[in-house]
Parts: sequence; structure tokens; C-alpha cells
Amino acid sequence: MDLWLKESQIEDAVMTYRVKQTLIREKTEYQDLAIVDTYSFGRMLVLDGIVQTTVRDEYVYHEMITHIPLFTHPNPKKVLVVGGGDGGAVKEILKHPTVEKVVLCEIDGEVVKQCKKYLPEISFALEDPKCEIFIGDGIKYVHEHRNSFDVVIVDSTDPFGAAEGLFGGSFYKEIYECLTKDGIFVAQTETPFYLPEVVRDVYKDAKAVFPITKLFMAGIPTYPSGFWSFTLGSKRYDPQKVNLSSTADINTKYYTKELHIASFVLPKFIEDLIR
Ligand code: SAM
Repeated sequence: MDLWLKESQIEDAVMTYRVKQTLIREKTEYQDLAIVDTYSFGRMLVLDGIVQTTVRDEYVYHEMITHIPLFTHPNPKKVLVVGGGDGGAVKEILKHPTVEKVVLCEIDGEVVKQCKKYLPEISFALEDPKCEIFIGDGIKYVHEHRNSFDVVIVDSTDPFGAAEGLFGGSFYKEIYECLTKDGIFVAQTETPFYLPEVVRDVYKDAKAVFPITKLFMAGIPTYPSGFWSFTLGSKRYDPQKVNLSSTADINTKYYTKELHIASFVLPKFIEDLIR
């Protein structure tokens, strides 16, 4: 008998993955946490029934949410990740030789603990001495740390529950204050196919705060619709005008210098959505 993980991407669209083995399933203080081993994507972290990251395709999301801001900023030293308990973003951030410290502010300590145990290929960098793990609410942490980070990355779950306050509104003003004078922030901001109003509203909120606000896209097989947006806000540096010719040569599987620029070229329906 086959075991299938069913993910309702929206009410009327479901993805299913054939499961080899359930490695852990528990109710944490914040969410239902599962790590399962699947035939098509290897081991994956699932929170409240939503696929967060998989061993097979994690590199797309984690490379794009980190290398675009970190190569746009000329000398990123201190980086904050809000969420990101699987460690994938930290893994990519620490490839940048200028980075001296990355703080991971994850609300659910169980995510860190179980990803360290069951997803070492993604979480290994959490053991790096440059990485400081803070278990707590990112909203509170950002509010309490002014002028502290060159780059802030909001690597959160979807805009529900504990993550709801991480999407737009006053939180982006808080991020602006948390950034240093020429800081850059990026957030994962959902898919324009299923949640166009989230993409539109988040972009509008970021544009109200940051002088340079851009949207870029990536293709992520295990994310709803496979077509994912990221919103970038920058106090000074434009990610489309950055000179990448002398940037550090780092090991990637998805990000390239050409794609850095091209990922900001949007399909017409998305241009219209955020106009
Ligand atoms: N990195 C994965 C990916 O590829 O999309 C998913 C992101 S990571 C698993 C999302 C994390 O955000 C979860 O572990 C969740 O506990 C955390 N989170 C949600 N709301 C938060 C908040 N207010 N402060 C800090 N972390 C939060």
C-alpha cells in the first residue's frame, strides 16, 4: 500500500508526493511539524501541511533569497535571517567571504532541532561559529535591533499564524530601522498565481518604505504553482544596476550573475499587478 503526502496548495489544487518514510511528526508550540522521505524529492520539511524545503530543490530558493541581496550590497558583514530554521539560507549566506556574522531568528526551536537531525545537507551551516541562533519572534527581534544589519532576509512560512505579521505593513518600517544606512532586505512573498493580492500588497508596503523596491522571480518545483516571488527593498543599491564582474566566485546550482539581472524582468501580468 502506498503512502502519499497531500499538500493543498489552494483549496482546489493539490500536490501529492509518494512517501517512503515518515521520519518525525509532532505538534510543536507553533505548528504541525513533519519531516518525510519522498521518492521524488528526497527528505522534506512540512509545516502545517505545507512543503517548506526539500533536499532535492532547496538550492533554488536558498540561493536566490540570499545571493541577490548579498551580491548587491558591496560589503555585507552582518546578516539577519527571520525564520529560516532549516538553515538553508544560512548555508548560502556563509559562502560570502565578507560575512562576519549571521543571526538566525527562528520562532520555533523544534524546527532547528529536527532539521539539524534529519536534514543535515541543508542545516549543517547552523553549527558554523559565525552563525548565532536566536529562538524568538522575528517581529520583536527586529524591533529591538536598530541599525544592526547590512542585509535582512525574511525566510518565513506563509502569511498565516506566527508569520502573518512578517508580511508588509509596519514590519517593513521596522526592518528599515533595523538595517544599516545602506542596508538591503529581501522577503519570500508568495506566488502571483495563487496569492496575487499578497504579492501586490507586500510590494506596495515595501515601496512605501524603501527608495528602491523590486520584485524578482524563481522557479521552485515544490512551491505552489512552481513560480515564486521575492520582494527586495534597498536603501541605496539597485540590484539591477550592480556591477557583478568582480564579485566572489561561489559555488551555486541555480544562481548565476546573468540570472541575477534577468530575474527582475517580469511577465506582463506581474508588471500590471504591482504597477
Ligand atoms: N527555508 C524554507 C523555504 O525554503 O522556504 C522555509 C522557511 S523556514 C522553514 C520558515 C520558518 O519561519 C519556520 O520554521 C517558522 O517557524 C518560522 N517563522 C514563522 N513566523 C515567524 C516569526 N514571527 N518569527 C520567526 N520565525 C518565524
